[in-house]
Amino acid sequence: MHIKKEQEEEIEKLREFLENNAVSLVLSPEDENYIDYDESKIVVYAGQSHEHIVYTILHEIGHYFSDFAVDVYDHAAVVVEEVLAWELGKDIAHTIGLGFDEDDYNRLMIDSIGKYIKYPNI
Ligand SMILES: [Zn+2]
Repeated sequence: MHIKKEQEEEIEKLREFLENNAVSLVLSPEDENYIDYDESKIVVYAGQSHEHIVYTILHEIGHYFSDFAVDVYDHAAVVVEEVLAWELGKDIAHTIGLGFDEDDYNRLMIDSIGKYIKYPNI
């Protein structure tokens, strides 16, 4: 029970940060994670482990606030964009005082970026 309460507080911390930036957070039953820029919302799959939900929200926040922009948008640019979003997500976690397992976070980052490298079309 105690753990559950802490988990809810972590999600609330992220939700509060986003709401302060006029972005809403939606935990969805659909297995996909994305940003809806038109409606200013971050949608994250609720069916993942709590840790992966938190890391994915941080990653999408990283995308949302990233100022990375390039003239030629190719596969390498996508990989760079992904790396930067993961890094910015980590910085934001530190800024808002959200504790997390950095090794675990890095593993999810490496897994996700590995998929972009192996399957350039996703
Ligand atoms: Zn991404």
